[in-house]
Amino acid sequence: MSTTPTPEAAQLFTEADAGALVTRHRAVHRSGRTKPLAWRREQLGRLRALLTENREAIADALHADLRKPRAEAGAAEIDLPVREIDHTLAHLEQWLAPEPVAAEELAGLPEGTTASATYEPLGTVLVIAPWNYPVQLLLVPIAGALAAGNTVVAKPSELAPATSALMARLIPRHLDPETVTVVEGGVAETTALLAQRFDHIFYTGNGTVGRIVMRAAAEHLTPVTLELGGKSPVFVDRGVDVDAVARRLADAKFRNAGQTCVAPDYVLTDAATAPALAEALERATKALFGADPQTSAAYGRLVNERHFDRVAALLASGRTAFGGRADRADRYIEPTVLLDVRPDEPVMQEEIFGPVLPIVTVADLTEAIAFVNDRDKPLALYGFTEDESTRRRLAAETSSGGLGFGLPMAHLRVPALPFGGVGESGMGAYHGQHSIATFSHRKARLDVPLG
Ligand code: NAD
Repeated sequence: MSTTPTPEAAQLFTEADAGALVTRHRAVHRSGRTKPLAWRREQLGRLRALLTENREAIADALHADLRKPRAEAGAAEIDLPVREIDHTLAHLEQWLAPEPVAAEELAGLPEGTTASATYEPLGTVLVIAPWNYPVQLLLVPIAGALAAGNTVVAKPSELAPATSALMARLIPRHLDPETVTVVEGGVAETTALLAQRFDHIFYTGNGTVGRIVMRAAAEHLTPVTLELGGKSPVFVDRGVDVDAVARRLADAKFRNAGQTCVAPDYVLTDAATAPALAEALERATKALFGADPQTSAAYGRLVNERHFDRVAALLASGRTAFGGRADRADRYIEPTVLLDVRPDEPVMQEEIFGPVLPIVTVADLTEAIAFVNDRDKPLALYGFTEDESTRRRLAAETSSGGLGFGLPMAHLRVPALPFGGVGESGMGAYHGQHSIATFSHRKARLDVPLG
């Protein structure tokens, strides 16, 4: 069964409909309903309940769309957003308190002058979500936008249709339906929405659509957050315990069949470490998914045929250390590690977004750093090393959205850390207090006594 919109269905949500919807949202926002702290906290509590009371239905939808294993669905799509909400509930009042300017900074102004910076809600924001973590990447931005006192129009990805339909059903049941509206659909619906004046657009997905979003936003001088992707490198230092590294690397790379924006994309290591690491990765992969991952309930599938064909074509690069099997009828690609990969081969030209891990050999750390800096700034950079000076150099001499040593992808589970890209991997950040900053205007206030 497919709920991909037909041309007839697409006509059901026109630019005029989008315009009317945004007008209704603006009126609700102007009424002041979304501003009180109590209202924001109540909505966050309801969003939390949506997640915890519908665990089964959410896991079923994710399984239907992505064959997402239930444990993975629970951790990434339910528990992570719940932790975000709890962190926000615990700190929101303190974050929203005006930040006073110290008296000595006001020298030259009349006696008794005070000044502060406050967060002011932006108004009505648009959240456009992708299909790979279709619950987390829809609801965590919504949580941030509500916590900051906005109304939200949310567009889930049509490529995860079961999850999109479930969110469209649950959100109006749990949240104030006049302040959060879900619009299902694809390009036509998104285009109709993008023609409207929003106060912020929060887009997660690829850089091509990111450019379309930014161009549309420019028409209205609407600020954007672009959560994009790219090739996130992993540096593996010589002399590390390859089995310990491989366990964490295989788990991060092959989870959700590699379709994670911060998944390790490729490995940089020296010629002596590469083969030992590949063997360790094979052991780690067997421990995760058994001898035949196709029969493992813990292993996912590519989202659709187009992505299957794209990733399958990348299997021809380098030399297969293990894996390499692909079954189109099942959208299954075996966890695969490639050795002796040259930088000019297809697998190194685009974000892989699938369960294929190329290992590129470099002479040393200096060459690895140059390799990273010769390419687009990645969403994440990971290092496995015991050496403090190596950590220092990777931190100081490279640029990436996030930097993680020892455990890939774990940084996004820390709500106090900003999550976002730089350069081609995006602009802006969210999570925790950073979501408040993203979905608010930072207003300056100066009070000078009249007398
Ligand atoms: P996608 O195709 O689901 O696109 C995202 C959204 O854009 C969808 O809602 C879709 O309807 C809309 N869209 C698609 N084409 C459009 C068009 N022509 N005009 C207007 N809207 C359009 O998602 P995707 O791009 O396949 O997702 C994968 C990419 O997203 C990867 O590059 C990945 O790294 C990145 N990603 C980034 C993050 C992050 O947090 N930084 C998270 C997940 C995915």
